[in-house]
Amino acid sequence: MSRPARAVIHLDALKHNYRLAKSLTGEGKTMAVVKANAYGHGAIACTQSLSDEADGFAVACIEEALELRAAGITNRIMILEGFFEPSELFDISSEKLDIVVQSPEQIKQLEQTPLESPVRVWLKMDSGMHRVGILPDQYRDAWTRLEQLSWISEILLMTHLACADEMDNGYTLHQLEVFEQYTLGLPGERSIANSAGLIHCAQSRADWTRPGLMLYGVSPFDTPTKAGSMLKPVMELRSEIISIKEVPAGSPVGYAGTAVTDKPTRLGVIAMGYADGYPLAPNGTPVIIKGQSVPLTGRVSMDMLTVDLSEIEDARIGDPALLWGSELPVAEVAKQAGTIPYQLLCNLNRVPVNYTQPVKFKETV
Ligand SMILES: *Cc1c(COP(=O)(O)O)cnc(C)c1O
Repeated sequence: MSRPARAVIHLDALKHNYRLAKSLTGEGKTMAVVKANAYGHGAIACTQSLSDEADGFAVACIEEALELRAAGITNRIMILEGFFEPSELFDISSEKLDIVVQSPEQIKQLEQTPLESPVRVWLKMDSGMHRVGILPDQYRDAWTRLEQLSWISEILLMTHLACADEMDNGYTLHQLEVFEQYTLGLPGERSIANSAGLIHCAQSRADWTRPGLMLYGVSPFDTPTKAGSMLKPVMELRSEIISIKEVPAGSPVGYAGTAVTDKPTRLGVIAMGYADGYPLAPNGTPVIIKGQSVPLTGRVSMDMLTVDLSEIEDARIGDPALLWGSELPVAEVAKQAGTIPYQLLCNLNRVPVNYTQPVKFKETV
């Protein structure tokens, strides 16, 4: 017997969600965002499963891109943060990777680094998020400088939305206007939308969408949407009950006794803790045991957590526990824990990952 904690990744759900994203994109193309190990789902498995249909994949950095190339992924791959130092440009060029260019420094470095095989550049405008990107009034000049380099084969125009997951936030339209105004007349394909923009803001869909979160079956919105209701969760975080005991009223539970039973209580211990990526969620956070929701009780430990099993008469050691998945959205757990679903998915650690379809991990020589 091994420790029962594990993540189960449903690659058929991933495909379903990608197809939904693609159909919402309409005439345009859909770049599947698989940065951070595909939001914790396994970048190689996820890209292999989408490789027949994805228009491209987006990763954060060259290390992530090269990992996919080494695993045999030949689809278009774009690097969302571009390059950190000019030496990366040689691999970028020879491995045929697209890069985002987001700062005047990167433009200067590109000018000083002639490349044998031309690269495609996504020139990013800071239309209002104020993280990375070329400021609007410097954008045209940046475009003109890149246009002159023979080692750049194509320039795409892109920006990123800061508030698209808030449906009524007018800032999205403001960003769209800024992008429109400062790219007016420039040739090249355009890309604006993340998952939230793709689902809710048709004007942001443009030539290329860049969904991440929704591919993993999680809606970026707090409120229900039609598309959101069609998404299928890809990750299930599972474990089992490993211990059960009855305690009287007034019993403190776990470290620091942050919960105290108010009645005779049947406590169940589940092999799942914060070292697995489960958050330090508060008392009352739901856990699903045999299809029934029970409350988390006491502080989450490194390797274990405790639930109140009083409502489940016939609970037994070895019964399955679902920490998140189709019966319990990860967004709900995130909300309880005061964080966002992105963080919970990416934080997965230690647990073995099982795939519902075969995955060809290339043997490393
Ligand atoms: C991560 C990222 C995305 C995907 O965002 P989601 O909210 O997960 O859909 C799109 N574009 C850029 C630039 C990103 O960094």
